[in-house]
Amino acid sequence: MSDLNALYTPLEKIPQVHEGLKKAFRSGKTRPIAFRKTQLLKLCHLVQDNLQRFKDALLADLGRPANETDFLELNGVLIEVKKAYDNVEKWASTEKPPFSLFWFSMSPHIRKEPKGVVLLISPFNYPVYLLLCPLAAAIAAGNAVLLKPSELCTTVAALLTELLPKYLDTEVYEIVNGGVEETTKILELPFNHILYTGNGNVGRIVATAAAKHLTPVTLELGGKSPCVIDPDCDVKVAAKRIMWGRLVNSGQLCISPDYVLVPKDFQDTFVEALKQAYEELHPTDPLKSGMLSRIVNERHVLRLKRLLDNTKGTVVFGNKVELSEREIFGPILPVVPVKDVDAAIEFINERDNPLVLYVFTRNRDFKKKVLNNTLSGTASINEVIMGCQAEGLPFGGVGASGYGYTTGQAAFNTFTHMRSTVENPTWADSLLLHARYTPYKSAPLRRLTWMLRPSIPPLPKD
Ligand code: NAD
Repeated sequence: MSDLNALYTPLEKIPQVHEGLKKAFRSGKTRPIAFRKTQLLKLCHLVQDNLQRFKDALLADLGRPANETDFLELNGVLIEVKKAYDNVEKWASTEKPPFSLFWFSMSPHIRKEPKGVVLLISPFNYPVYLLLCPLAAAIAAGNAVLLKPSELCTTVAALLTELLPKYLDTEVYEIVNGGVEETTKILELPFNHILYTGNGNVGRIVATAAAKHLTPVTLELGGKSPCVIDPDCDVKVAAKRIMWGRLVNSGQLCISPDYVLVPKDFQDTFVEALKQAYEELHPTDPLKSGMLSRIVNERHVLRLKRLLDNTKGTVVFGNKVELSEREIFGPILPVVPVKDVDAAIEFINERDNPLVLYVFTRNRDFKKKVLNNTLSGTASINEVIMGCQAEGLPFGGVGASGYGYTTGQAAFNTFTHMRSTVENPTWADSLLLHARYTPYKSAPLRRLTWMLRPSIPPLPKD
């Protein structure tokens, strides 16, 4: 691991960085589409030229297998950045609202304006994806960006700090490194948008600091994503997908399946399927096979160990904590028996809104019932994790799992102000609009009102 302390940005430099970004944004440099495209292409190359270094850095910080980093992190970054590169003209182009006979003379348009200087604060678990994807959206939207990587992934943060200035324009995109003290200092400054990804407690701190400047915020927060199991599901596939989803990055994934709600009389069958899935996914000791990431630090290992030590449930398998290796063997997947689907729905609705809701069933009515009676950031049927990267789907939480969207065009919109404009020719006063002027004359005003007022349908009879 790198010594990030050596990279920490001195506190007194932070306002200067912010001021520099503000000035550079005001110069208009980030606005031309050609500039945005060049920077996005350079960002693609930053990742592509350094794939191995990113894999090594993630191995150093999280013990993550290189294949997993390729598949679930770096591919995702390249897809998102390239998508922004391919679509920036379309996303940024001025739009016309649908034709309206009354308003067309005013030539109404929606301009897509960059918000200004935006702040991205990212967590340790997918430290490249969760920083560079929003960066791509913010660049595409024409903003200047201050990036704050997680201090827990020191090697990744050091690598990004080295590479960013080599590829991107340092006047408008800059990294500030540090921990709580530095981030607190950053949050004293007025930004035009803040995207924070991480835990809900810090999310509240960020939103409170932002409120002082009326800064709009997007929060991507914790998961608590349940799996609802219908006994009429493909149990083998369900168990395999859930177990895989729980073990990826050692469970340090916001969209990990967090717990399973299963009907009581199906519990034993399902737990047995989970055990078999585990053995299939890890035929040899994952401590030695290098197929399982490590938990990011000792504090988090102890937190997980406490969960296991204090559980009122039965530990079915696993429960091997290797503290010296900073490791917990088999991240935790609580299986909660419930009476039926209604009890599962009640269980979910009594708690915070999940980031993702997973449903495993072959039955259309079962699926509909769960979706129609719950609310979550996103939902996947018979799938875990993968669906959240599906092309064209906005990703974001709701309630305690956050607010706002961070992928594709939805992410571009997050960092964009929709500025409505009209342009009324002087001759328009000779039509209906002259009626607005005082002294009012009732006949033209009646005509104007008649044109503007919507007709309301009558209430249906009981
Ligand atoms: P973390 O400890 O790396 O912290 C995240 C960021 O917050 C860091 O940059 C850190 O410097 C900053 N920070 C920490 N304490 C702070 C404080 N007191 N004031 C200001 N800034 C502070 O990561 P974490 O928060 O443990 O992240 C893991 C959490 O993030 C999990 O709950 C996970 O579910 C969630 N997450 C959500 C998403 C999503 O898209 N919804 C994605 C990834 C992770």
